[in-house]
Amino acid sequence: MVDGEVGNREFAFDAVVVGAGFAGLYMLHRLRGLGMSAVVLEQAAGVGGTWYWNRYPGARCDSESYYYCYSFDRELEQEWTWTERYPRQPEIKAYLDHVADRFDLRRDIRFSTTVTGARADADGRGWTVTTTGAEAGERTVRCRFLITAVGCLSAANVPDLPGLESFAGRWFHTGQWPHEGVDVAGRRVGVVGTGSTGIQAIPVLAETAAHTTVFQRTANYSIPARNGPLSDAESRRYKADYPQIREVQAQSTNGHPFVINQQSALEVGASERDAAYRAAWERGGLRFRAAYRDLLADEAANETASEFIRDRIREIVRDPATAERLLPRDHGFATKRPPIDTHYFETYNRDDVTLVDVRSDPIEAVVPEGLRLRSGTVHPLDDLVFATGFDALTGPLLRLDPAGPDGTTLGEAWREGPRTYLGLAISGFPNLFTITGPFSPSVLTNMPSSIEQHVDWIAGCLEHLRDTGTDRIEADPAAEREWAEHNRQAADATLLPRAATSWYLGANVPGKPSVFMPYAGGFARYAATCTDVARSGYRGFRLGAPRAAA
Ligand code: NAP
Repeated sequence: MVDGEVGNREFAFDAVVVGAGFAGLYMLHRLRGLGMSAVVLEQAAGVGGTWYWNRYPGARCDSESYYYCYSFDRELEQEWTWTERYPRQPEIKAYLDHVADRFDLRRDIRFSTTVTGARADADGRGWTVTTTGAEAGERTVRCRFLITAVGCLSAANVPDLPGLESFAGRWFHTGQWPHEGVDVAGRRVGVVGTGSTGIQAIPVLAETAAHTTVFQRTANYSIPARNGPLSDAESRRYKADYPQIREVQAQSTNGHPFVINQQSALEVGASERDAAYRAAWERGGLRFRAAYRDLLADEAANETASEFIRDRIREIVRDPATAERLLPRDHGFATKRPPIDTHYFETYNRDDVTLVDVRSDPIEAVVPEGLRLRSGTVHPLDDLVFATGFDALTGPLLRLDPAGPDGTTLGEAWREGPRTYLGLAISGFPNLFTITGPFSPSVLTNMPSSIEQHVDWIAGCLEHLRDTGTDRIEADPAAEREWAEHNRQAADATLLPRAATSWYLGANVPGKPSVFMPYAGGFARYAATCTDVARSGYRGFRLGAPRAAA
């Protein structure tokens, strides 16, 4: 069935948005505000995006609730009250349900609809999007502009382990957790992965499971979250302070409302530094990174923070051999995305929790009774949990399988790695916008901040195109190359590309080209660049001739 006939100039919609998470919901709201017709195509049965799928035990946001939310509507800010310092998955999902209802968004969202492909028109002035859904067969939707709001961490990465199909127990990926929950009472649970997800899930699983075995490939740093209920007084204070909070976020490096200490960790004495780290440790959360300006820029400065955290691990974990295995030594603190936790390291003091180092003795196969390591050791398991992350940033876009006007697919265009202009557009793919695409700050920031900035920029761009009667826009390959070079320099000015096992580099997915994908030059600087590009009349983009001229 066809919405709007393929091959003619008739479009069912001005814009198709893919995904109904934070990005897709706000994009739809802005498109409506511009008077444009739009539909959101969403694979899930409800809104929420990442917060629809990630229902694993302990799933909670690492950004604090008072700023992990939209800022575009002052009334929305005032009427929603968060209950905890860090919101749990169900609370964020409830917030996004509230937003969808409050702005009457659902009537333009097609749920349970998976995009399987998208083909640009030969003249690059429109798209035909192919979907599958509840009805048999494929449907196509015609639109002028295609906007991806698919998130950065939505393509689950399940390791390709031989024998998985032979496993006699149950297995799960944390990003595709069953909605009805999983009861692990009385069961031997194995968790593969100690990233942010594993570090959240392991303490919660261990509370119920008969035995929990953690398979760790790379030891990780983690800072205590210090979660707790938000009092009425705190909520009132945040609500009163929102104008200032939003201002700090807008001027920040990473969209969080905290200011990075402008001192070097090396210019203060050891005892002053230790006191600063202790205060940050006690306060808890991602703000630890802001203790000194050069933690992500200078190895010696970073090592002071890394060693402080190693000392805390040594202090918390009673068994010295286990503590030793938990010490991260192959990368510096926060050069991979730093997790925050609730009693993660303490969990290894339980008698019913075992830590297995699969760096020295890798997982070789899944066998019916559990996991077998290279040494031949078999760990018997009833449930196997893959907290093994995602094919980040590029994976969600490649799954849409877009093809440009000449038939070149995104997979072909990105064979050597991604390239974009500002993370917003891709040469060879006209009239396509990618919210929080590769080479934008995205995962190095508080995501709602980056999402709002991108959506606002795209809305401004669409308004400009409409006002000038222009129906085609495409990134210039030269601008894309310059942007890639600027990204490389921005990343190289930090320690981030040195963490060899980082998913920022694609290192977690075998065969993925090694490219540092998020823009490391800072959120405020990036946003200023985008504003400047728009003000210059969209420098670096090729705009189609205005209709009148054509
Ligand atoms: P991740 O950071 O990529 O961690 C995956 C873990 O699985 C790593 O420890 C990895 O080891 C391990 N692993 C992967 N394949 C493996 C294999 N074949 N054998 C053994 N170990 C394997 O994924 P994640 O924890 O899901 O987190 C991804 C991102 O999602 C986070 O960094 C964060 O940005 C976001 N997130 C946010 C929140 C939040 O805000 N609350 C919560 C969870 C996740 P290596 O390190 O050796 O590759």
